[in-house]
Amino acid sequence: MAIREILTYPEPLLKKLSKPVDEVGDEIKTLISDMLETMYEAPGVGLAAPQVGVLKRVIVLDIEYKEGERQPIVLVNPEIIESSGETTYEEGCLSIPEYNAEVVRASEVTVNGLDGEGHPLSIKADGLLAIALQHEIDHLDGILFVDRLGSMKRDIFRRKYKKLMKERAEAS
Ligand SMILES: [Zn+2]
Repeated sequence: MAIREILTYPEPLLKKLSKPVDEVGDEIKTLISDMLETMYEAPGVGLAAPQVGVLKRVIVLDIEYKEGERQPIVLVNPEIIESSGETTYEEGCLSIPEYNAEVVRASEVTVNGLDGEGHPLSIKADGLLAIALQHEIDHLDGILFVDRLGSMKRDIFRRKYKKLMKERAEAS
C-alpha cells in the first residue's frame, strides 16, 4: 500500500473523462488499496482515481470514518441508475483545498457497479452517502463540485482561488 499524491485544481487531468475498468485485476486492486490509504491519510470521505492521476472509473468512500473504524465502500465502474429528490450540502474536495460551497444534488440515488473484487454491487443511498457518491462519480466525468455552482458563485470561486494560490506560492 502506498499513499499517492492528490492532484489539485487547476490540474488539467481533473477535467478529463475516465475510462471504464475492463477487469478488476491486480493493478486495479493495488490502485484501490492505495486510494483508500490516501483517502484516510488526507483525511477525506471520498476519493476518485483521477484525483491520484489515474483516468479509470474507480471511487472509494468512507463517510462514517471518524474514530479509526474503517468502513470503506469501493466502486468500480459506478453508474447512477436512479436519482430523486433534491438536497443542498456544503461540499469540499481534496483536490480543491481550503474551499467549500453549497451544491444542489439529488437527495437519493441508486448506484450500480462492481466492488473491489469485481462482483456486482448495487447501493441505494440517501443523506451524505448519496451526496458523496454523486461528487465522486462526477470526478470520473471530469466534473468538479465548483462546476456545479451557479455562474456568479463560480466567478467568485475563481477569483478567490487565484488569490489563494498566489498567497500559497508566495508563502512557499
Ligand atoms: Zn472531490
